[in-house]
Amino acid sequence: MLKFQFISFFAASMFILTAGTGCAQEDKKKDKKMAKYNKLTSEQDRILNKKGTEWAFSGEYWDHFETGTYVCRQCNAPLYKSNDKFDSHCGWPSFDDEIPGAVHRSVDADGRRTEITCVNCGGHLGHVFLGEQLTEKDTRHCVNSASIQFISADSSLPDMIK
Ligand SMILES: [Zn+2]
Repeated sequence: MLKFQFISFFAASMFILTAGTGCAQEDKKKDKKMAKYNKLTSEQDRILNKKGTEWAFSGEYWDHFETGTYVCRQCNAPLYKSNDKFDSHCGWPSFDDEIPGAVHRSVDADGRRTEITCVNCGGHLGHVFLGEQLTEKDTRHCVNSASIQFISADSSLPDMIK
């Protein structure tokens, strides 16, 4: 009986050890990938990499209308132009178009909303809504300020981190 208990304990320990090693390897791989990108605050990381959402009217850009380009906060990929930004009064930066090829759309797990992510790094940006008739293009990219960085038209764009 004692022997059996010992074997069970040994097997369980081995399982835990193996599982632990597996996780560490996954984390290492992810860390290596993340290491090359811009350093993020914990709030930016929560939004970009854990699909979080900032509070309405809390971000840096919901009420920001200068001329320039919005790039991905994580990898510097140019995502949106200021001339596609409009005031939707929703509390988040809103754009009715993206820079071609920069933004990926996928249906949320709940099947109701369409998530938008950065094509280059996969960072979560927000959601896209169609059919609200707010602009001629009838499209609203509802983007978290934490996911983007504004670059004024008279500054050069940072290099995209691939
Ligand atoms: Zn990106």
